[in-house]
Amino acid sequence: MESLDGWIDRVVLGERPILVASDFDGTLAEIVEDRDRACLDDRARASLRALSAAPGFHVAVLSGRSLIDLRSRLSGIATGARDPLWVSSDHGAIVRDPSGELETLVSDPPRTQHAALVERARELAALFGGARVEAKARSVALHYRAVPAPKHAALTKAFRIACAAQRATVLDGRRVVEGCFGRADKGRALSHILARLPANVGVLYCGDDATDEPAFAVARQHPFGHALHVVSDERLTPSVDVNGWLARPAAWIDLLETLASLATARRSRDAG
Ligand SMILES: [Mg+2]
Repeated sequence: MESLDGWIDRVVLGERPILVASDFDGTLAEIVEDRDRACLDDRARASLRALSAAPGFHVAVLSGRSLIDLRSRLSGIATGARDPLWVSSDHGAIVRDPSGELETLVSDPPRTQHAALVERARELAALFGGARVEAKARSVALHYRAVPAPKHAALTKAFRIACAAQRATVLDGRRVVEGCFGRADKGRALSHILARLPANVGVLYCGDDATDEPAFAVARQHPFGHALHVVSDERLTPSVDVNGWLARPAAWIDLLETLASLATARRSRDAG
């Protein structure tokens, strides 16, 4: 399997356009007890800003968060009026391109089932202290990081039953279980973005969770792609092949800095 250095030599130094794509929580931002407090690391912000301004480089952030939530956490990357990022929210259901155009890759959820799942999630959150419900446009997430560990199995089982009753697909994340309407995933969103970039584009994808696996598969199977998994105690190995592992979000941010300096070197060489 190709090493990261091998991929950089072949793809980044080979002058082709590059898409640098990343998950947010646990990848660009450390996992924190209160997910409302998760924030983009300053070094990551500077590197994403440099990369997205570099000719031939494209940057995408793909997350399970809602679009408004995700974009608020990515502020400060634009260098002018134009937002340079591709952003995919709601586990790949929505893609926003750098011009601000939105595309929805799944149909609207059935209202009755969505409302019933929100109600059941709220009942369960009231029963299990510490659980939090996030009602999104196309899914309902039940976050249980603050619920005592012995209760996790009972809570997630009860929510899975509710998802099955409402015909929602279950997505398991790190201390979150989510019922999704429609067949969105980050792999489809990543393919959607790649199809809009030059045909010879290379792609690097990094993520930390099971919800990143469809995107790992797309990057891994791409002729100029590379997939990296950020390891945690909660998610030691993904169930799909990746090209490599990183020990923590800081290691991904180090790599973003390296790529940003390569992109800057490429730009000054082109200008000179
Ligand atoms: Mg994550």
